[in-house]
Amino acid sequence: MLKYVNYDIVFQEIPNETTLAINISNCPNKCKDCHSPFLKEDIGRELTKDFLFNLLIKYEKSITCICFMGGDSSPKEIEYFANYVQTLSKFKIKTGWYSGKEKLPKDLSIENFHYIKLGEYKEKYGSLKFKTTNQRLYKINNNKLEDITHMFWR
Ligand code: SF4
Repeated sequence: MLKYVNYDIVFQEIPNETTLAINISNCPNKCKDCHSPFLKEDIGRELTKDFLFNLLIKYEKSITCICFMGGDSSPKEIEYFANYVQTLSKFKIKTGWYSGKEKLPKDLSIENFHYIKLGEYKEKYGSLKFKTTNQRLYKINNNKLEDITHMFWR
């Protein structure tokens, strides 16, 4: 079961999208420089279809994307909910996933996402907005990953 801690409308996380970012807790990663240690705790409320349904009713006209921030403890559930958002919104709302892993899980179906971020947070390399970053943001194009990290550097 995945849990979320909070959510917010953000403009920086996915270039050219107005994104409703949902922070997922119980992060299994061990980034040495973790910027949000509270997300490693087993806290928050259960992420459910009802919760996403109500979010879409409320924010559908104000956003272009929903991004799951975390969820590496259960990527298949993230995929399931991303598919749900796409279907429910009749493919009007894009879906993103911020993973802290270096690679995608082998059994993930990337067609359920428009954007995926990969990579551990390492303070010495900086966040995605720094050219030195080790993290990568990919756009899913024809079921392939296109690296669009450079869009943060304009
Ligand atoms: S992915 Fe890394 S930086 Fe993000 S919450 Fe997990 S441990 Fe912290």
